Amino acid sequence: MSLLNTSLHAQEKQTMDWFEETRLAIVQMGNPILRQCARELSKEEILSPQTQQLIEQMKVTLRGVGVGLAAPQIGCSIQMAVIEDTEEYQKTIPAELLKLREREPVPFHVIINPKITIDESEYVEFFEGCLSVTNCMGVVPRARSVRVECLNEKAEPVVIEAKGWYARILQHEIDHLLGNLFLDRVLTKSLCTTENYEKYWRNQPIEEIRQLIKK
Ligand SMILES: [Zn+2]
Repeated sequence: MSLLNTSLHAQEKQTMDWFEETRLAIVQMGNPILRQCARELSKEEILSPQTQQLIEQMKVTLRGVGVGLAAPQIGCSIQMAVIEDTEEYQKTIPAELLKLREREPVPFHVIINPKITIDESEYVEFFEGCLSVTNCMGVVPRARSVRVECLNEKAEPVVIEAKGWYARILQHEIDHLLGNLFLDRVLTKSLCTTENYEKYWRNQPIEEIRQLIKK
């Protein structure tokens, strides 16, 4: 899932330049790999040097551009995704918006072979974007809370209970592993370019956005 703000500080930009060389190319919508159901990894595969290296490469690829990256997005149809939502990313977002989105820093971690259980009692609507759908944002209703059972990078079982923005990231990334994009769930009338999101929508309360896109 992409960052909602694109303004990086100069220092961060320099660090990003250093990362550029090792970044993996992110495939864009239309590539059939994004529509496949990715295969599960065995414990041996998870612990293999190849997978461990891929995790490091995905970490570098994600940094500074997004909060989640699924393996199909870098051309590997395997059930693995990396997630990281740093304090730095959130510095440029007004505190009230962070609170509204229930967005808090999430340390870097890996989810492998995830099984998601959605709490269907409450859905929340916010704009989101995707690194595989460049320059496009839209409002996506997502469950406020989820439970994810998966393996971590050491092939150990992990249970994640998440709510708010973290729950949204998990739903977005796990969707990728099942061949789904946020475009499949977006309220289509809310679709906009990143530039217009920044210009018109970024600071709008969701109630007002809903009114406008209903017309
Ligand atoms: Zn995505």
